[in-house]
Amino acid sequence: MAKSTLFGLYALNAAIASIGIKTSRKTDKHRAWAEINLDNLDHNLSELRRVLPSATSIMAVVKADAYGHGAVRVAKRLYAGGVRFFAVAEIEEAAALRKKGVKGDILILGYTPSDRLEDLIRFNLTQTVTNAEDAERLQAFGKKLKVHIKIDTGMNRLGEPWSHEERILSMYRHSHLIVLGTYSHLAVADSLEPDDVSFTRTQTKRFNDLVERIRDAGLPTGRLHLQSSYGILNHSGLTADLARPGIALYGLLSNDRDRVLADVELRPVLSLKASVTRVAMVRAGESVGYGRSFVASRDTKIASVSIGYADGVPRVLSENGGCVLIRGRRAKIIGKISMDQITVDITSLTDVEPGDTVTLIGQDGDNSISAGEIGRLAGTITNDVLCSIGSRVSRETISLH
Ligand SMILES: *Cc1c(COP(=O)(O)O)cnc(C)c1O
Repeated sequence: MAKSTLFGLYALNAAIASIGIKTSRKTDKHRAWAEINLDNLDHNLSELRRVLPSATSIMAVVKADAYGHGAVRVAKRLYAGGVRFFAVAEIEEAAALRKKGVKGDILILGYTPSDRLEDLIRFNLTQTVTNAEDAERLQAFGKKLKVHIKIDTGMNRLGEPWSHEERILSMYRHSHLIVLGTYSHLAVADSLEPDDVSFTRTQTKRFNDLVERIRDAGLPTGRLHLQSSYGILNHSGLTADLARPGIALYGLLSNDRDRVLADVELRPVLSLKASVTRVAMVRAGESVGYGRSFVASRDTKIASVSIGYADGVPRVLSENGGCVLIRGRRAKIIGKISMDQITVDITSLTDVEPGDTVTLIGQDGDNSISAGEIGRLAGTITNDVLCSIGSRVSRETISLH
């Protein structure tokens, strides 16, 4: 910067200071925002591909707005990285992706009601057949539909139970159903306990045996898939045509203290940030926030921060030792979490000013707070923490490529 410009800035600052306006370090940011690092998404994709057999392709799970990351930007980035299969929970999510120009196969993992079946054709989508009656209903629609058949191998949630062989075979015989895939879902792939590992083997065997029967009957199964993130990370040797990672693509495990067998280095894609809006002192004996649940035991310096439970900050966080980062240091959340605001103790941080960036999830200097830490303190999993980030939190894409 030229000296004259620099001097100009000093002069401007001095002028502002002299008329009593306090300058802040950041004024251009939104109230609460999430930074979505797409380079880290690329990295996680290549890590998962490295772990999987080369014949297994990724079906990226982008339901729930890609776990809060923004499904359109995530799907488009993954498509650019060679991913050609996507999965969502419901027709509305799938239609929204198509309307924004997302290409590739899109599988709807859940049930689609009869009055929305026309949209399967209109948006060129692939529908899960959730059991034998569902197959009849889809057949009765009277138009060709692309489907994957779901087999329940022990999760007891969705799919035709694996033991109903005849009913399963019937699902493949409907003239209007173009079967492009057959899949199941593992219930305990996250666990390395011997009983759980053995249950995963049981599920896998049920699936493989059934696939053999279907083929023996001369019926095409289409692409086979079983594994979500933990299935990939703990059972990478399974042979399948597709694998369906969600949380691992976003750079996290569901529980950050889980141990997994695959040697992967995952990088969190999302950071969650807000701003300091006020700095104040409360005297010993004074309370902060709703219900007066926090009472200062000594004179306490506090900062108000522009994010609350409507933005996805779990309300229990302040009772369980939740913290944020300001200027690279930890500050404890105090008092009840409000809908749009939280209050933090900054007594030991001398230099905090309104406008300072506050990190709720992510890195600041040498410190970081993971979605895993928040999940642990809130008694839930990282998937839930990410999906709970509110729609009014703006998403900003970060990428050097
Ligand atoms: C959500 C979901 C996934 C992805 O699960 P992660 O644990 O996030 O990898 C895969 N398959 C099905 C059927 C799902 O519902």
